[in-house]
Amino acid sequence: MTQEELFKKLVAHCKEYGFIFPSSEIYDGLGAVYDYGQNGVELKNNIKRYWWDSMVKLHENIVGIDAAIFMHPKTWEASGHVGAFNDPLIDNKDSKKRYRADVLVEDWLAKQQEKIDKEVEKARKRFGEQFDESQYLATSPRVLEIKAKMDAVHTRFAEALNANNLEELKQIILDCEIVCPISGTRNWTDVRQFNLMFSTQMGSTADGANTIYLRPETAQGIFVNFLNVQKTGRMKLPFGIAQIGKAFRNEIVARQFIFRMREFEQMEMQFFVQPGTEMDWWKQWKETRMAWHRALGFGDENYRFHDHDKLAHYANAATDIEYNFPFGFKEVEGIHSRTDFDLGRHQEYSGKKLQYFDAERGESYVPYVVETSIGVDRMFLQIMSAAYNEEKLENGEERVVLNLPAALAPVKVAVLPLVKKDGMPEVARKIVDELKYDYNVVYDEKDSVGKRYRRQDAVGTPYCVTVDGQTLEDGTVTVRHRDTMQQERVAIADLRRMVDEGCSYAALFKKMKA
Ligand code: ATP
Repeated sequence: MTQEELFKKLVAHCKEYGFIFPSSEIYDGLGAVYDYGQNGVELKNNIKRYWWDSMVKLHENIVGIDAAIFMHPKTWEASGHVGAFNDPLIDNKDSKKRYRADVLVEDWLAKQQEKIDKEVEKARKRFGEQFDESQYLATSPRVLEIKAKMDAVHTRFAEALNANNLEELKQIILDCEIVCPISGTRNWTDVRQFNLMFSTQMGSTADGANTIYLRPETAQGIFVNFLNVQKTGRMKLPFGIAQIGKAFRNEIVARQFIFRMREFEQMEMQFFVQPGTEMDWWKQWKETRMAWHRALGFGDENYRFHDHDKLAHYANAATDIEYNFPFGFKEVEGIHSRTDFDLGRHQEYSGKKLQYFDAERGESYVPYVVETSIGVDRMFLQIMSAAYNEEKLENGEERVVLNLPAALAPVKVAVLPLVKKDGMPEVARKIVDELKYDYNVVYDEKDSVGKRYRRQDAVGTPYCVTVDGQTLEDGTVTVRHRDTMQQERVAIADLRRMVDEGCSYAALFKKMKA
């Protein structure tokens, strides 16, 4: 199965099992807007909890807030979003399709890297055991040729982005002979800038109305509340403010399902530090965040850092954590050193002092900020892509299973009476009643046990508990484990302990430290 086919199957699976539906589907949907179904909302809430607890519960010096989506319009002038929150776009005149010019070049660069990887694989097969990869990379004429071409384009690309040179960006696309994937032609328009903010009107009459924006990031709600939190919480530097909430971007090219949406959710934490210490904190947060991702157990090799070619207007260092999606390594999270840009600008635009009095130094100053910013939906897609597996079983049957970390699974336990009689449903209901206050538990008595197992595998339920004849005699049940499909007899009295241990967030957090 190709990666593309796998991705299509994943999208279909998300719909079939109540994870994600296209928004307003009965009206044929709305571009790049999606709804979460009954299982999707549970997984999403669990991801948010994993993030929130890792920030707010595990750090004495991080607190949370929940700011409004609407903010005073001056916020976005001060933050630079009115003037500079743009994407460079380009149209193909034949297909009439619109693309992000920077993404076209990035995809071209990724393709060159793939070519190099293929050469390496071919050589590995040819040379067998004696193959020395680093020597091959340093000497193969074919690899060196591709690499030189790549490096030259990369340098031009970074310069063009930083100088906002749109003509040069177009020239790179032409020089690299990049074609439109739909029409296959190189008939491109010029590159233009496009602001990504949605606006609306506030006020009852059109003339008295004020243009306000739907926030394109949650961070600004944190910056404008910096002093409120610092004073009321008596916070001392360094300290952080975390927030989870909706953000909106009028993305030009919305593609790859929930990877790029127009309405999405962010989990952001702004960490306020003494000026001059920001690089150390930036490095530390890079490591902490990478450990958070890796603790989920999807394979360390599937994550990497990618430093930005173009720093945003507010940043002095920035890196992305990328995951190996079915469509290649792509950003899941950004870790940015935002300097004193945001607080400094809000101070200037509002005329209010946004400073911290440092008792040790005996002076006031505007703190520097290191931000960690991750999309809930993108993280959701990352987890689903990693967890989705099709397996061939020993008896020749196939199953689709979501190997989700148990703490994140939408349903923790399915309780199944073997038959709908002999008092088994009653015992099963009792087990549900005992567990339901702490866990999302389902009761299922329809179809054969085998079919019921498959249904639970498909949504990633870690434990299926079957009540059978023996249960009525000795108070034990059959517990069937999702990943191994192994079964064991467990006393009903021990079920809670098993679920507590298997589904705890603490186990994930401990892996972060290891
Ligand atoms: P990209 O380069 O993919 O457009 P970005 O660098 O603009 O993303 P940031 O502004 O750093 O993204 O946003 C932080 C995080 O928010 C991203 O790492 C991503 O997880 C998430 N995110 C950003 N835009 C979207 C979107 N349109 N849909 C879903 N998630 C998004």
